Amino acid sequence: MPPAKRKITVLPGDGIGPEVVDSALEIIKATRVAVEFEKCEAGARAFAKGIVTGIPKETIESIERTHVVLKGPLETPIGYGNRSANVTLRTLFETYGNIRPVRELPGVRTAFTGRQLDIVIVRENIEDLYAGIEYMQTPGVAESLKLISREGCEKIVKLAFAFAIAEGRKAVHCATKSNILKLTEGLLQHTFEELAPQYPSITSKHILIDNAAHQLAMRPEQFDVIVTTNMNGDILSDLTSGLTGGLGFAPSANIGNDVSIFEAVHGSAPDIAGKNKANPTALILSAAMMLRQIGEGKAANDIEQAVLVTLESGVRTSDMIGVDKPATTSEFTRGVIGNLGKRSKVSPPKEYQTVDLPVPQLGVNVVPAKSRRLTGLDVYIESDIEPLNLASDLEKLTTASPLKLEMITNRGAIVFPSNERRVSLVDHFRCRFVLREASSKLGDTEILSLLGAIGSRHRWMHIEKLQEFDGEPAYSKSQV
Ligand code: NAP
Repeated sequence: MPPAKRKITVLPGDGIGPEVVDSALEIIKATRVAVEFEKCEAGARAFAKGIVTGIPKETIESIERTHVVLKGPLETPIGYGNRSANVTLRTLFETYGNIRPVRELPGVRTAFTGRQLDIVIVRENIEDLYAGIEYMQTPGVAESLKLISREGCEKIVKLAFAFAIAEGRKAVHCATKSNILKLTEGLLQHTFEELAPQYPSITSKHILIDNAAHQLAMRPEQFDVIVTTNMNGDILSDLTSGLTGGLGFAPSANIGNDVSIFEAVHGSAPDIAGKNKANPTALILSAAMMLRQIGEGKAANDIEQAVLVTLESGVRTSDMIGVDKPATTSEFTRGVIGNLGKRSKVSPPKEYQTVDLPVPQLGVNVVPAKSRRLTGLDVYIESDIEPLNLASDLEKLTTASPLKLEMITNRGAIVFPSNERRVSLVDHFRCRFVLREASSKLGDTEILSLLGAIGSRHRWMHIEKLQEFDGEPAYSKSQV
């Protein structure tokens, strides 16, 4: 009996998805690698059937069976209604690490041609603003929660180093906005700096994300692997794909403990869908990443090399600069199939080791604190009263409380006690209350009593406790 074939869930997706996915499937089949495909639905068609997640039950069951997904782009309704089916998939299967490699490709002309760019963005994939936890705090003020965990940071940093080692790379940069977001972005920086010494063969360096963007535009060849948070990674990886020829050439892998999803970085490009015009390279290279992960390194190398040879031979799709007679998606696909087994003149196959994935922790992950103390409360109030009058009213209402009003901010700027700055005000005030006596007791009774007093005259919609862990304030100090 022939050995059982490895099953792979295939999501053709929306827009150009089915065209580029079919291209990759034809090429995989032509390598004769022992895999079998389960095609499943997700995205626009599922939404149209009233499946609010965009991911039908049968698709989830297939992924649970196969653990490996080759995926076309899924459309996301913008600004309202259904959640992104992409984000649902990533969250459902906890594909915490998004790996986006880009490199200079032969014949793909860019502003950086000849500089041999070969960069990988390792992006945290499920936390950060992408958790999509949002509220309208007042009819005119929206809030989004940026949640970053120590656990999430550890996993993504370990994945970045493991990937760097597997690919024989030399350096990992950690790019964050920790100068402004000291607690959230800072957590990734601190975790990175703590773990980096465990990988002495790899050079490690922190860089601020805005400088990373600038350096990527000026001297991108200095970068090897860049690890970053979800939102920053989303933006940075589109930038790096632009450096090397555009979205049509950028593959990606979403790595989880149990399930990995391989897809092009690009979306469904509805403007060119159904025209046999889309560049399938990104999806084909994603398929090669998938084959490498499931242990089919030879087929992966053969596909990558065939793509390079096809590009070297002058076959060009319409998204490439300087193309007179563009190849269709099908012509490009046939070109790659015809070149299977050939080797590139400029870029021979690389040596890859298996990526040593971080071991998942079971149960609830806890970062212990030896001591903790509650020292105050931020109360968010919707009001149209001028700050000094609001402060005076709040002070009168809370004279009996162990908490006293310390400051009021409006969109981060202090408007009480100092009211020198001229900021345009909105009806959303953060009112910080701290203990009058550091030794006083502060618990739920005192908090509820304070909220009762404030609520008798003002509309409060949100609170945050001010805590200290191990003697360190666990909240941001206000801006001036
Ligand atoms: P996009 O689909 O990536 O397309 C942007 C433009 O890039 C296209 O209009 C096209 O430019 C070009 N392009 C992208 N892929 C190409 C390819 N393979 N070959 C040739 N040209 C290509 O971005 P979008 O327009 O912002 O997003 C469209 C939809 O896709 C949205 O619903 C979005 O939410 C979704 N999306 C899904 C994913 C995913 O599933 N992972 C990722 C991103 C976006 P020209 O106009 O020059 O032809």
